[in-house]
Amino acid sequence: MKCPRCHADLVAEQKYHSIEVDHCPSCDGRWLDHDELDQLEATVPSTPEERRATVRYAERRSELHCPVCGNEMTGFDYRAYNLELDTCADHGFWLDAGEEARVREIIAERVRDLARAASAEESWARFLGGLRKKLSR
Ligand SMILES: [Zn+2]
Ligand SMILES: [Zn+2]
Repeated sequence: MKCPRCHADLVAEQKYHSIEVDHCPSCDGRWLDHDELDQLEATVPSTPEERRATVRYAERRSELHCPVCGNEMTGFDYRAYNLELDTCADHGFWLDAGEEARVREIIAERVRDLARAASAEESWARFLGGLRKKLSR
């Protein structure tokens, strides 16, 4: 496969335990299959629920072409964050240099936010429970 960015040959590399991604030695970009992106996200402690939210926001035409089928890819904002990725609906995702680190940061951030939301909900439920006890006395 050729790099969609600079057309160098992609080299398979092992990342994060067992995920095999295709890496461009020239521009440091990476090609991930659909389930490889999911596996990359799963390298951050998180649950499928936390990762289920919409991944693709603000879709637009990309100037890149899929390294598998050669079709024009779609650019999008990853999970509505300020991170622009490119995808071929049939084959996977293109991440420029450093973007896979951003993906992991974003997942970690989401997990923290959801944990915060969950504990806020919990204390609200405790508050309501206490209120009910008071009222029924
Ligand atoms: Zn490249
Ligand atoms: Zn494709």
